[in-house]
Amino acid sequence: MERIYERIDTETVCARAGIGQGDAEPLVVPIAQSTTYCRDGMESTAEHQYSRVSNPTVAALESALGDLEGTPPAVCFGSGLAAESALFLAVLRAGDHWVCGRGVYGGTTRLGQQLLDGLGIDVTFVDATDVDAIRHALRPNTRLVFIETPANPTLEITDIAAVARVTREAGALLAVDNTFLTPVLQQPLAFGADISVYSTTKFVDGHSVALGGALVCRDAALLERLRFVRKSTGGIQTPFNAWLTLLGLKTLPLRLRHQSRTAARIADWLARQPEIACVNYPRTRDAAAVQHAGTHGAVLSFELAGGFAAASRFVDALRLCRLVEHVGSVETLVTHPASMTHGDVPREERLESGIADGLLRLSVGLESSEALLEDLERGLRASAQVKEASCA
Ligand SMILES: *Cc1c(COP(=O)(O)O)cnc(C)c1O
Repeated sequence: MERIYERIDTETVCARAGIGQGDAEPLVVPIAQSTTYCRDGMESTAEHQYSRVSNPTVAALESALGDLEGTPPAVCFGSGLAAESALFLAVLRAGDHWVCGRGVYGGTTRLGQQLLDGLGIDVTFVDATDVDAIRHALRPNTRLVFIETPANPTLEITDIAAVARVTREAGALLAVDNTFLTPVLQQPLAFGADISVYSTTKFVDGHSVALGGALVCRDAALLERLRFVRKSTGGIQTPFNAWLTLLGLKTLPLRLRHQSRTAARIADWLARQPEIACVNYPRTRDAAAVQHAGTHGAVLSFELAGGFAAASRFVDALRLCRLVEHVGSVETLVTHPASMTHGDVPREERLESGIADGLLRLSVGLESSEALLEDLERGLRASAQVKEASCA
């Protein structure tokens, strides 16, 4: 299984994404804004006909994303959630059941609970890190298991190969949201998953300028079905956003590995600070060593012992890290999950999933680790004051 990381040279695939091959072709793929493509005659089978179905700029991104996992071209969408919606519409219908990991992106949960539910598509949420819990949730009408690893924002690791085995035995498909690690650091299909799911809005674009989503899989019939759903519902990515995403893709391996190394350094430093109750970073888990290609991603979370008030003071004192609901950019970003990404999850349920009031999520960017540690130290000093004040 480790061989996949040697077989696919992600640096080279990324650097050469979308480049022209023929004589006098532009080196960089053009932004094909035309909505429509002309035909030679009524018998024409031209590759592109109408931009909702396919277009050359999006196709260049799709080829690169497919090459990154050794599959046919990916299917790209206007956002990560547009990709997920298409996947659900493609493989689920009324009367079907699917199993969803508890640690998935909030929008995935909302889609399952508040939209698919109304279409007669039943979902069971389980702790995906527990393979037996998944096994027990499977029913004869289960068509899909959807997980995200590392989980958000607890960074818990699910053993993809183990989940793939029970899912396959049940005759269902396994989809893995690989947005945090990308194919550069984790290859879900190599561990038996059927579909890799991406919000390219995050690390693949990397510069916070283009929404996008992608589905990657090997199965030709499923790919055709996904393209049919996209054509029918109109969720394709815009050419301009595909072009920006291609630009981001070229430096993805460099950015992600560098940002991951800084994240590991920050996780080590945070773990030594008395104000920090716990640090979540995937490196410490066994499955991570097998599943991840060397480094463990640029996202970590940590809990301030002083709870909500300490977290609030911490965030206010930061000068470099910006408070946003986002990950994967070249700037370091901080999120307070309890009030932001998981603000509408009932408190009890939230605490049970490990999202305490004092938990902060950090998406580490390209600033120097010295500058970032200095900023975090500013936050810690401010939060320590609160703790003392509230304890007094
Ligand atoms: C952001 C995100 C999504 C949704 O993607 P959009 O592009 O915002 O629609 C899905 N999964 C994960 C893990 C994400 O971080």
